[in-house]
Amino acid sequence: MSYDVIIVGGGPAGLAAGLYTARMDLKAVLLDRGPLGGQLLNTELVEDYPGFESVLGSELATKMGEHARKFGLEIRDFEPVKEIELEGNTKVVPRYLGVPGEKEFWGRGVSYCAVCDGAFFKGQELAVVGGGDAAVEEGEFLTRYASKVYIVHRRNELRAQPILIDRARNNPKVEVILESAVKGITGNEKVQSVRYEQAGVTKELPVGGVFIFVGFVPNSGLLKMHVDHDEGGYILTGRDMQTSVEGIWAVGDVRSQLTKQISTAVGDGTTAAVAASAYVTSLKDAART
Ligand code: NAP
Repeated sequence: MSYDVIIVGGGPAGLAAGLYTARMDLKAVLLDRGPLGGQLLNTELVEDYPGFESVLGSELATKMGEHARKFGLEIRDFEPVKEIELEGNTKVVPRYLGVPGEKEFWGRGVSYCAVCDGAFFKGQELAVVGGGDAAVEEGEFLTRYASKVYIVHRRNELRAQPILIDRARNNPKVEVILESAVKGITGNEKVQSVRYEQAGVTKELPVGGVFIFVGFVPNSGLLKMHVDHDEGGYILTGRDMQTSVEGIWAVGDVRSQLTKQISTAVGDGTTAAVAASAYVTSLKDAART
């Protein structure tokens, strides 16, 4: 089967690209190794996507999928891409903290997804590591289940958006521990405590779970050829989202850019679809002459 456009990844960027390519009458297929939604599925409530004052991440993902399908996008979820000859992968994976105990207790108290695992920690005290939007937002979310959530951050201030910080600070179940570097996670069968260093003093915080939100690294496992990227591994593109490889566009969280929002991912997907459409048309025109 041959397609005009193949989209790898079914997050908001891929789904927007799929909607636009389908509407422009290109033969497009979207592949995702899991269910549709990408990082949307790691978010309980979305409150900053214009037009949706408050919507479940999973619901927004379903709506985006249905919308693109309606216009003829072929969607194949649960279909992992093994290799791309001319590559481009729009997935990201969580960054590991890299402290003793993290790998050992993964799935036994250490988690990278509050929406997926939060309910397992009803009535327990939890630690969240990180100081960005994800740590603060997900930490606050975890208070639905946990009796207390400690946000442990290495700097003297959180770097999340003020609205998220305010919400967390106003939640009596949240306590922020600043200037503290997590050094290890300990336990028996399951996590029992997190060890951190504050002003040269090592401290032990008894918790039933540790949620780690220290950013993402782009998953470039499928990339079999060189594509220009920044020092963090995020793919560099032009204003049309095309990478350094002709015919490959990078969109969403995998792209080097200022912020990672659903709205910017959707914008990336839209731009790439328009550019890809022009590119495919030029190839078809050239083949005819
Ligand atoms: P992020 O913005 O990169 O923040 C990562 C946090 O983890 C930073 O506070 C960083 O500390 C800390 N960190 C990194 N490596 C660490 C280490 N080895 N040890 C201890 N701490 C470490 O990542 P994110 O919060 O996952 O967010 C990713 C992107 O998604 C961002 O663009 C964010 O805006 C977006 N996002 C948006 C929303 C929303 O709008 N509601 C929600 C979630 C995520 P430093 O501060 O010291 O660097």
